[in-house]
Amino acid sequence: MELFESIQTSGHEQIVFCNNSEVGLKAIIAIHNTTLGPALGGLRMWPYGSEQEAMDDVLRLSRGMTYKAAVSGLNLGGGKAVIIGDPRTDKSEALFRAFGKFIDTLHGRYITAEDVGIDVNDMEFIFQETNNVVGVHQVHGGSGDPSPFTAYGTMQGIRAALQYKYGNEDVGKYSFAVQGAGHVGYHLVRLLREEGAKVFVTDINQEAIDACVEMGAEQVGLDDIYDVEADVFSPCALGAVINENTLPRLKFKIVAGAANNQLADDAAGDELDKRGIVYAPDYAVNAGGLMNVSIEFEGYSEERAYRMSRTIYYNIGRIFAIADRDKIPSWKASDRMAEERIAILGRLKMPHMGKPHRFPGRERTSG
Ligand code: NAD
Repeated sequence: MELFESIQTSGHEQIVFCNNSEVGLKAIIAIHNTTLGPALGGLRMWPYGSEQEAMDDVLRLSRGMTYKAAVSGLNLGGGKAVIIGDPRTDKSEALFRAFGKFIDTLHGRYITAEDVGIDVNDMEFIFQETNNVVGVHQVHGGSGDPSPFTAYGTMQGIRAALQYKYGNEDVGKYSFAVQGAGHVGYHLVRLLREEGAKVFVTDINQEAIDACVEMGAEQVGLDDIYDVEADVFSPCALGAVINENTLPRLKFKIVAGAANNQLADDAAGDELDKRGIVYAPDYAVNAGGLMNVSIEFEGYSEERAYRMSRTIYYNIGRIFAIADRDKIPSWKASDRMAEERIAILGRLKMPHMGKPHRFPGRERTSG
């Protein structure tokens, strides 16, 4: 597809190509939509097979950020950046500082954060060149690891789904199958167990499972997780786990987890709906991490981060209400809720509120 054609199709505002041959920097920053505020989204470093692959990824991911921020009630737009390179071999101070300088030229239209292949040390270099970074280390007044907030927010999404399905959100009464016991999964299992819920867990990493078993969870095999007879399936590892192969096996009543892009495609979301399985849309459920970093703008506070994460309960409830109102599956209702918010707030035109004007060269004298 032609460049402008693909940007127009996805509705992007601006794409920035960043090149610095001296340090081997090849990066793309995609700003999807800034109607609600500055475009915020992580930086990914990946050895893409081709430039087109990198472009497709950054366009898809930045658009996703617009929807996540909009549905979560945040005053943020959607953006994302990718560096083409191997994070194991191609990192250097100069690379990240050069990238930081490019971000700074955007004057806050794009704000970056950590994503796949990037760690807190890389962020430090970027932070030396621009203020437009979130998720910086706590020593700089940053918010640190977002995963406890993502897990806490996921719990709010789970509660909203239980309330919708059963009219009762007493987590301890239900059973859960958690796929992936990494940063988010571990904290989710902890929160579920604190409420006395029955938890089944799987992971490719036995140590991660052991930590959950210690909290009272029951280990199940990697592939067996799809057949577990539990009320709620909580994907917290990979994308595309709801697909034509897994769907016929699912006996769960609810799917609500933190993993990104859980549906292999839209048809998988439609099929969940047809089977009467309540799906709490992933990007609305896992927004706790984004909420957490967004608080850095006004000065980070953990208390505010938890308070904001609790709004996920209401966001998910509203998505189900729109799904019922419009008789559509929840994945579509979530997109609609995001689009409606962008459209209505985009139309709000304030009268000029007045601000001091500069009139260089003029001088008022009396008399
Ligand atoms: P992580 O890498 O710490 O954890 C993922 C876990 O999944 C690991 O323990 C890994 O061993 C396990 N895993 C990998 N393949 C598996 C498989 N086939 N079956 C079962 N387990 C498998 O990542 P994380 O930060 O916990 O994020 C988990 C998911 O949540 C990802 O999809 C991520 O994009 C999404 N997410 C995370 C955050 C956050 O704050 N960390 C925010 C939003 C969304």
